[in-house]
Amino acid sequence: MNFTSKEQILADQIKKFKRDSGTHSPSNLTLLQYIPELSIKIDACFLSNPYATDLFLTYFEEEIIKAGKFRDLIEFYPSQNKVIARPLAQHLNINVDNIFIGNGAIEIIQAVLHQFVEGKTLLTIPTFSSYYEFAKPGIEIIYNHLNKEDNFRLNVEGFINKAIAEEAKSVIIINPNNPDGGYTSKTAIIHICESLKHLDNIIIDESFIHFAFEDDEYYIMSVANLINTYPNLVVIKSMSKDFGIAGLRAGYGVMAAEKVRKLLKNGYLWNSSGLAEYFFNLYVREDFNLDYETVRKEYIKTTTQFLLKLKKIPDLIVYPSKANFALVELKNDITSEEVYIKLLTAYGINVRDCNDKIGLDGEFLRIASRKDDENKVILNAFKEILKRKFSSTEIK
Ligand SMILES: *Cc1c(COP(=O)(O)O)cnc(C)c1O
Repeated sequence: MNFTSKEQILADQIKKFKRDSGTHSPSNLTLLQYIPELSIKIDACFLSNPYATDLFLTYFEEEIIKAGKFRDLIEFYPSQNKVIARPLAQHLNINVDNIFIGNGAIEIIQAVLHQFVEGKTLLTIPTFSSYYEFAKPGIEIIYNHLNKEDNFRLNVEGFINKAIAEEAKSVIIINPNNPDGGYTSKTAIIHICESLKHLDNIIIDESFIHFAFEDDEYYIMSVANLINTYPNLVVIKSMSKDFGIAGLRAGYGVMAAEKVRKLLKNGYLWNSSGLAEYFFNLYVREDFNLDYETVRKEYIKTTTQFLLKLKKIPDLIVYPSKANFALVELKNDITSEEVYIKLLTAYGINVRDCNDKIGLDGEFLRIASRKDDENKVILNAFKEILKRKFSSTEIK
């Protein structure tokens, strides 16, 4: 791949930076702070719904900024964990004793892994790296490989059999999965819960569930309501992606009341923030929810269109996704790193180079869907970059 000399200088800096940031990509703020010559115009690395961010800001400006209430949010302590959980519990139709509010889902992942998980733990890979990185000594992670030959689809019976054969004490599934977007139906997840009732924990990460759908009504297919039927169920939910508010740090977990009690006894009293509390109170309101449902469905449609067009680009394998992103594999000896750097330096488009993800054999990028006009720019950039290999170009 050809780089101009300016792009090459930036490329060397980016490579160094990526090496230093481990298994999570450096945040945009960090990248821009250290490489000021870089200009990120489109962030297709972070996996959020941009329309939902707009919606949140509309409410926030009206009710907080214009109403002069911003000072209160930062001057005072937020409510305690249980207080923030109460309206959420009502909205989700789940007992408040089963809800734990996290400073982002990542805090819940860490807390659950450290407090409740021990012994053999079956984890599907590729995955969100925190699930094995935060495993403390005493947890033995065993991997259930999702294969590209199967389009990264979870083999449900295979997964159950492996958990039983290996005598796993806990299992972890992200649904839809990150980084491939593969979706396991609600019926299949319930079948897993039913078959693995004897385990300590069945951890289901539903951080992308608002983007998944099984029919034209786009119903949200969460299993959080099954906590009474399956007391070993732990549902982890980040609000960062589907509400586009990663900076607020808001997430919740649904789990047995005894687990919530144990976590709260360990701390987490004021682990939220005024901003996150405002968000949770907004989330449960009928007016916001109606608006949110509109932007959620609109974004699902935008994403479906985007992924269809991405599939038409030669030299690119787009794996099936029910999330707001796709895992794509590059063919013909093109490396993910060169495409990642070319997109960033020449087009200002940031995508996720997956060359550090365990369980991925090949050259993979993860590309998030953005707003419609931004998606067009991403498609065109890919078209240009892979042009040399094109025989006929027909992406509209
Ligand atoms: C992003 C992500 C998280 C972390 O979300 P935060 O709420 O921002 O901490 C957890 N799980 C998965 C699968 C994710 O992709």
